[in-house]
Amino acid sequence: MQFRKKKTYEDIYKWRRSQNGTCFYCYEDKAVAIPLVGNKGICQECLDHFRIGHVGTDRHLITHLTKSTRSHDETVLWLRKHGIKLAPAGYKDGVHSYMAINNPGIFDHYHDIIDGSADLNTVDKKTALKIMDSYTDIEIFKDGDIRISY
Ligand SMILES: [Zn+2]
Repeated sequence: MQFRKKKTYEDIYKWRRSQNGTCFYCYEDKAVAIPLVGNKGICQECLDHFRIGHVGTDRHLITHLTKSTRSHDETVLWLRKHGIKLAPAGYKDGVHSYMAINNPGIFDHYHDIIDGSADLNTVDKKTALKIMDSYTDIEIFKDGDIRISY
């Protein structure tokens, strides 16, 4: 197997407990290039091909890869360069909040529900889950640190 982009939310802790390889991105037993949870993580080959697929699923690796960014602007630039669209969601005490968009099609289509002007109860449960999965809440600090919700 080779690198597979994560399209939906996947629980990395659940994967860690499974016997499904040492690499979260190819599920093979390979030397770990960057440990993400315990001693499991991502292998070098997957790291070379890595593309962000779902900000919540990829959060450990994104946090690791943005360690060297030193300001809010640098972190935002890094995310944009890696193909992530950010919708600003507020600013308070030096912390910028964003919705990082995982699935632009769903996010745009159900924008009324996401911004709260329409009721989530108007869609079925499966659609509701898809809507919740279409973005991930993140916070970016002045010093470039990032906190990704899940
Ligand atoms: Zn791998």
